[in-house]
Amino acid sequence: MSTSTFSIELTDRDRLIKAAFQAKEFAYSRYSNFRVGAALLTTTGEIIKGANIENASYGGTICAERTAFVKAVSEGKRSFTGLAVVTDVKSAISPCGMCRQVIREFCSQAMPILLVPADYEQRLAEGVPDGGVKETCIGELLPDSFGPEDLDRPRTQ
Ligand SMILES: [Zn+2]
Repeated sequence: MSTSTFSIELTDRDRLIKAAFQAKEFAYSRYSNFRVGAALLTTTGEIIKGANIENASYGGTICAERTAFVKAVSEGKRSFTGLAVVTDVKSAISPCGMCRQVIREFCSQAMPILLVPADYEQRLAEGVPDGGVKETCIGELLPDSFGPEDLDRPRTQ
């Protein structure tokens, strides 16, 4: 597969996926036992990691993706070029609805979102193209969405 196939430069793509795996190690998922790791790539090349953090009061739980966004934005980083998400499932798992709306807030419609299977490294070794990563974007995951610019539209009163 040629490098032009990817919308994130290959070295960044590799760094981002590795960071998502690292982030998953710190998941606090004692209730669901469903670990998730996320990694955000900023326009300056920095990577911000997030894991899901559950709570005995279940509503206090926050997903890995939103953990990464909250960490980044609260430190003044709001410009992103990629997101990678990994779980312990051997297929690409997609962000929940709430996370999709948060991604919509801070990312372009076409920004690459890499959904990484748990057995990514093994698949790469077996010659599966791109290790079975599913690449998508928020324009695909959340079509016809409501976003910040909608609040700027003229209103009747
Ligand atoms: Zn979520």
